[in-house]
Amino acid sequence: MSKTQYCIIGGGTAGWLSALILQEAARRSALDIDITVIESSTIPTIGVGEGTTAVFRGLLLQLGFDEFEFLRETGATIKYGIKHQDWRRLGHSYFGPIDDPLKMVGTPPGVTSSWLNQYCVGAGRAVSEPHLFSQLMRRNRAPFAIRANKTRLPVGPFHHAYHFDQAKVGAYFKQKAKGIGLIDALVVGAETDPDSGDIVSLKLDGAQDIAVDFIIDCTGFKRALIGDVMGARWVSFDDKLPVNRAIPFWLEHPETGEIPTYTLARAMKAGWMWQIPTQDRLGCGYVYSDKFLSPKQAQAEVEAVLGHSIIPRADIPIDAGRLDRAWIGNCLSTGLAQSFFEPLEATSIHGTIVQMMMFTQFHMRAKGADRATHQATYNNNVARQADDFCTFINMHYVSERDDTDFWRYVRTNCISKEVRQLLKVWSDHLPRNDDFAPFPGGLAHVEDQLYYPVLDGLGLLDRALAKQEIGQNPKLRIHARKTTEKLVKEYKRVAAMACGHRSFLESLRE
Ligand SMILES: Cc1cc2nc3c(=O)[nH]c(=O)nc-3n(C[C@H](O)[C@H](O)[C@H](O)COP(=O)(O)OP(=O)(O)OC[C@H]3O[C@@H](n4cnc5c(N)ncnc54)[C@H](O)[C@@H]3O)c2cc1C
Repeated sequence: MSKTQYCIIGGGTAGWLSALILQEAARRSALDIDITVIESSTIPTIGVGEGTTAVFRGLLLQLGFDEFEFLRETGATIKYGIKHQDWRRLGHSYFGPIDDPLKMVGTPPGVTSSWLNQYCVGAGRAVSEPHLFSQLMRRNRAPFAIRANKTRLPVGPFHHAYHFDQAKVGAYFKQKAKGIGLIDALVVGAETDPDSGDIVSLKLDGAQDIAVDFIIDCTGFKRALIGDVMGARWVSFDDKLPVNRAIPFWLEHPETGEIPTYTLARAMKAGWMWQIPTQDRLGCGYVYSDKFLSPKQAQAEVEAVLGHSIIPRADIPIDAGRLDRAWIGNCLSTGLAQSFFEPLEATSIHGTIVQMMMFTQFHMRAKGADRATHQATYNNNVARQADDFCTFINMHYVSERDDTDFWRYVRTNCISKEVRQLLKVWSDHLPRNDDFAPFPGGLAHVEDQLYYPVLDGLGLLDRALAKQEIGQNPKLRIHARKTTEKLVKEYKRVAAMACGHRSFLESLRE
């Protein structure tokens, strides 16, 4: 029997991640498949995309990559979360760490998962306080201590995330991928089976046409196969997510000082600006609404905020949304081809990884009549993932700000009914884990632990309600207070032992 031919179209981050996850899944289940990546050197990758979530590190280690080599070769840095500046009101900021202290201390039997947060909110302490990543992030420390013999000791059990240059990471994966075919050609057409509608071969400009069994469309905003050939439609989120244009630019690191271990997301007059440190530079950009600013005005606003001129690297239109179906016939799409919102909370690369894990763990082996059922389940879950990301991002815009036309417009027109519904639920009880339906296979998804710092930072959690909830169980309240104090003390101690971020990154080159 001939091997099943998997063809991945697109050599951006999504294409290479898909190829590696597919290859690993086939190896684990002893599936005999051939994987080929087709990319066109005439179409560049998106050229931005620099913050990940912790899922990326989990995958890196699962695939057997050496983390230190990865950091060295790609110029990546450590990320513990996001600093949100000026979102609630001008001059206010809050941190969103991505670790989960409950993983360390557990939840006592019969108690809701929100017990530690209930205590913090009720006591007027930031919910991010008992997080290891808050302590590391504020001090810009590495997640490792360096012993006298120069070996590195992890200072905690949590997966951190990274900041990187997606082009360098794509090139790294391409160079590391063994046993994956590579064709540099443009896919210019596809032949479909008249009965099933499946794609049977691809017409290539620059190489011979190729027969295929299964396709993963990672062609970015072009959506070359899933859209034009398979007929997927775009579900727009433009009524919920107010920004629609991005100007990326780079800045030099200051000569001295630490490299930050967080993404800076700074709210602006008509959107927000990101600053993401890699080892070589700060990758930055202003995502804004062109209903309120022209590209020239957006650039002028950035320059006024920074106090110097910038050189925009692109002008990227953003049509936030997702496909109605991510998998049609024998064509599945992921990456920017499947969805994009705005870079807040780094959902895009995370989404790709989780989608490919879901496909390879639960659906890849489906055949014949079974395939339609699997497709429907997969498509529902992928659509839910995107919709939940959209709701989470939308929550960030529930702001006290009304200082510009943009913020007044957002307040009146953009806060979604899903966000209003959640805020209603959480005015009755504080968010807890069972407010969120489980995601397939326990794969990482937006849940209460991610919402808490954002809700807290925006002042959307009711202190009196928190006091009342935790006050119902005085023993638990004392336990929560002691646990918080113990964690803060321990994490401060650990953070003081951890190596500085810059010197850790430099030590990888020795
Ligand atoms: C402003 C902005 C900021 C972002 N920031 C983040 C972030 O902080 N975190 C995050 O997780 N994500 C972020 N993203 C998203 C992130 O960039 C993408 O998820 C990631 O880079 C994957 O892109 P991709 O591989 O889907 O598409 P691309 O990088 O666009 O790659 C598409 C590939 O398809 C190939 N191709 C296209 N058409 C054809 C064809 N017909 N034949 C053959 N090959 C073809 C191209 O050659 C290319 O190799 C950001 C995106 C934008 C726009």
